Amino acid sequence: MPLINKRGRPLKDLRISVLDRCNLRRTYRMPEEPLLRPGFVDLIEHFRHSGHTIRLIEFMDVGNVNQWNLESVVPSAELMKTIHDRCPLRPVAQQLNSEPARRYAFEDGAGEIGFISSIGQPFCGDCSRARITADGVFYSCLLSTNGTDLLTKIRAGIDTDQLIDEIQALWGKRADRYSELRSNLPARQPHIEMYQMGG
Ligand code: SF4
Repeated sequence: MPLINKRGRPLKDLRISVLDRCNLRRTYRMPEEPLLRPGFVDLIEHFRHSGHTIRLIEFMDVGNVNQWNLESVVPSAELMKTIHDRCPLRPVAQQLNSEPARRYAFEDGAGEIGFISSIGQPFCGDCSRARITADGVFYSCLLSTNGTDLLTKIRAGIDTDQLIDEIQALWGKRADRYSELRSNLPARQPHIEMYQMGG
């Protein structure tokens, strides 16, 4: 039976990190200046006709080390216009409601491109992912400040059914929708880093 939370969101995807530092510790999701370099359009060109689909993600306030600020975010609409002016695009139907990227196809048949607009068009209402870090902490939102320690319970001997019950209870009471609320939140709290979360 699917796990459904009180906002009707099913848990479809539970990502478990096996390493702490499972992403390179990088400036995660790039700010405006690199994306607007001329090389950005060359990158798009490079992958047209390649069979690979590029996804462009708005610069996100994940973690604490990427110096995010709203002014540095290049909206997807701006990127889309830049690409469309050169290589016309048309929207493609989503495959899943929970798919974060809005898909577009190049009208000349060169493939597809995706835009993930976490800042400009939050999709918390369709968010169906949870994560467990390598040290056994459950998070139901990428931008969580606090998680729930499952490892201690596992080491204390809970069995698989009890663990599923724990996760079901956590998911069921889940109310987070950080991106939708971002502009109304008080001063930013520390977030877990992406290299711990695993993406
Ligand atoms: S901000 Fe949190 S709830 Fe919203 S889409 Fe991202 S991970 Fe899901």
